[in-house]
Amino acid sequence: MRVEASGSVPCDRMLVAEAPGHDEQFNYRAYGFDEPTPLIGKAGQQLWSDMVRFTGLGRDDFYVTNLIKSGLPNNRDPKPREISEALPEFYDEVDRVKPKVVVTAGAFATKAVLGSLSMALVHGLPHRASIAGHEFICHPIYHPAAGLHNKGFLAAFAYDLQRLGKVEPWEPSRQGAPVRWAEVPPECPRKVSHVAVDTEGWAEKPWGLNFSFDGKTAYVIPARNKKVLGWFSAWLVGKRVVGHNLLHDIPVLRALGVDLTGAPCHDTQVLAYHDMMRTGSGLLEAEAQNLGTLAYRELGLVLNELQSCVGVDFSTQTIPYTDEVLQYAGMDAIATWRLFEVYRRRGLVETEAYQIDMGQVPLVESMIRHGLPVDDDRATDFYMSIVEERSAVKAALRTEAASYGNHDFNPGSHPQVRAILQRIGLRVRKRTKGGLASTSTKALVEHVNEDFVKLLQRYRQLDKLKGTYLEPLFEEIQ
Ligand code: URA
Repeated sequence: MRVEASGSVPCDRMLVAEAPGHDEQFNYRAYGFDEPTPLIGKAGQQLWSDMVRFTGLGRDDFYVTNLIKSGLPNNRDPKPREISEALPEFYDEVDRVKPKVVVTAGAFATKAVLGSLSMALVHGLPHRASIAGHEFICHPIYHPAAGLHNKGFLAAFAYDLQRLGKVEPWEPSRQGAPVRWAEVPPECPRKVSHVAVDTEGWAEKPWGLNFSFDGKTAYVIPARNKKVLGWFSAWLVGKRVVGHNLLHDIPVLRALGVDLTGAPCHDTQVLAYHDMMRTGSGLLEAEAQNLGTLAYRELGLVLNELQSCVGVDFSTQTIPYTDEVLQYAGMDAIATWRLFEVYRRRGLVETEAYQIDMGQVPLVESMIRHGLPVDDDRATDFYMSIVEERSAVKAALRTEAASYGNHDFNPGSHPQVRAILQRIGLRVRKRTKGGLASTSTKALVEHVNEDFVKLLQRYRQLDKLKGTYLEPLFEEIQ
């Protein structure tokens, strides 16, 4: 069913979501509306209550619409054809409403205005945009329904709203900086605040090492140049090393003959994680912590992607030594250097740098590559010991129960347990909702010195260990 937009025309503020849900199309009366209306169901309620809380603005301050005007079957995502069919009407709406600010809720509405930029990159940042010659600020926020499914998004959602109207328009630049091949040892100061180090390639096929000591220029040492790599190792001694996800670089550095053992290290990916927890931008997704996303959001810098450089092919581990890759690689080191500065200014850098325990690196690396290694024999032995003890405890329980007249005792049956407790004469204070004596583990704690209860509690522990943890673990291993 089609759901028309609501709000006055023209309007300074427009909010565009994705497509109406079931409540917007059919349950509008239950929500106090006389006609189908956008964003009135669960997601809408989340949105408007947070909107009032974080911005002081309410539904009446917006012209509210959806990119797709009719509901989609089972609330599925819109298809590209449906989006392109909806765009002319949406552009018309913008032309009529003439908003100064357009809040786009979710990826589809955001894409319709800003093009294909990911939400992790743009959320909460006001971007200049124009449609049909009309210029406005686009403020992308996560879709409120994301927070209903994954609570991690609620913090990001609040963060996005809090910044509405308070942040200067974002103008990221693609401007590069000077990056040079280091065919001979470059002129480098003896003392620097920190050196950003990055690598390209793989441990089995390293391409080179990129570094920047001032955030303005970068050098790239190709893997074949052992002499300059040797010089770099010596120059690095005693300097503070900053990487972005160093765990990934360490094996490549090792293959290049550069050893960070004992070097004071910082990792901007770790700092980004702490910063996100601190600010409530909250997103713990890998995408939110990648260098390209952080450079865009923190430095206003659009970084190139290695995969999009001509001649790069990850499937054959091919990275050519072209100027394009040189520029890409150097900018990563420059961005890492600048990012560290941002976090240092924010007070996120502990005074002590940490030293990476190099002995752990191959282990963690292999866990990332292959998953967590499990000692199959020991796990099986442990499983068998639990199964055997469970059987033994069950047999003892049945003997105990027989002495109270139950010759076919089932320890999983609460009525049977209750009857035996009564026969023993144990009074349980806690009651079930139905007023019966509770037989829960918690309720029986006060009687654990009683043999029957002691055995029962142990049986329950072993049974849970077997059914809830060990059996699913073995299924997982298989
Ligand atoms: N989700 C949307 O994107 N729009 C609505 O109107 C309701 C839920």
